[in-house]
Amino acid sequence: MTMHDALRYSRQIRFPPVGPEGQARLAAGRVAVLGCGAVGGAAAMPLARAGVGLLRLIDRDLPEASNLPRQICFAEADVAEGLPKAVAAGRHLQRINSALVVEPHVVDLTAANALDLLDGVDVIVDGTDNLEARYLLNEVACRLGIPWVHGGAVGSEGRVLTVIPGQTACLRCLVPEPPAVGVLPTCDTAGIIGPAAMVVGGVQAAEVIKVLLGQVEATAGRMLAFDLWAGQWRSVDLAPLAATGCPTCRGQDFPWLEGRLGGGTTPLCGREAVQVMAASGGSIDLAGLAERLAGVAEVSVNRWMLRARVEPGIELSVFADGRAIVAGTRDEARGRAIVARYL
Ligand SMILES: [Zn+2]
Repeated sequence: MTMHDALRYSRQIRFPPVGPEGQARLAAGRVAVLGCGAVGGAAAMPLARAGVGLLRLIDRDLPEASNLPRQICFAEADVAEGLPKAVAAGRHLQRINSALVVEPHVVDLTAANALDLLDGVDVIVDGTDNLEARYLLNEVACRLGIPWVHGGAVGSEGRVLTVIPGQTACLRCLVPEPPAVGVLPTCDTAGIIGPAAMVVGGVQAAEVIKVLLGQVEATAGRMLAFDLWAGQWRSVDLAPLAATGCPTCRGQDFPWLEGRLGGGTTPLCGREAVQVMAASGGSIDLAGLAERLAGVAEVSVNRWMLRARVEPGIELSVFADGRAIVAGTRDEARGRAIVARYL
């Protein structure tokens, strides 16, 4: 370790479970953060500050003003600039720590890309906003044998669960069947306060550091659940669930990864927008599309995405991986119609 790093990280090196050896392990650590919004961003920032070597930032969306009360990787200028969240968050985190290697991926996690996208890291942070993505993440982690840290926040409540495949209960052990659509509260229906997401992200970051240091005994096998408004904190022992396991963590059944479950349209939590697949499985020539749309709309394009104000109140964002987000409506049929009209 350089003198500069010994000084920079001196306080956390002094914390006995870290020490100089632990700091070196953090520097070699590779972490995927799936979703760079409220929870994912709040987990990524302390990891960048702690000196983790690599962050693979995966997000399908772009920042908007209603994200700012809780998404700590973004500022007003990011909303105005309109870069994808993964890129904007990566740039912000590298300003905090120039030694950090950032891998931004502007994509939607799907059964087709999940194994490639999440392979080769030491631990995965769940910063997603829907259960469908979490089941898929759980299956990828169990199949690849990569620890992952589940986190979720809504209202003033949050929960964190660290899954060590082969050792602890997994998400499917805890929730064997996905609940019906509309049953669970979401940020859209129940609202959310920023501190709930920031606590979840902070706890997740601590769990990631434990995993990277090989010290998971402290909380593995327990789920933390809290309500900041009621001032309640609970730690639930999941050891009885781990004793039997489930078909996924026993390595027998991966229905989401194999496409037998899921694959429908996914809502964009907290946004007046719908996502539509514009080109299935293929990439889109953004520069060519920009030329075609130039006559009918105000268009801006960069290497990741194209934005076009196609109709009053409607903004179309098209990503290189074949997705389109139609902002300004929640009507899926209208979203599909707009995509069909302009693409
Ligand atoms: Zn399981």
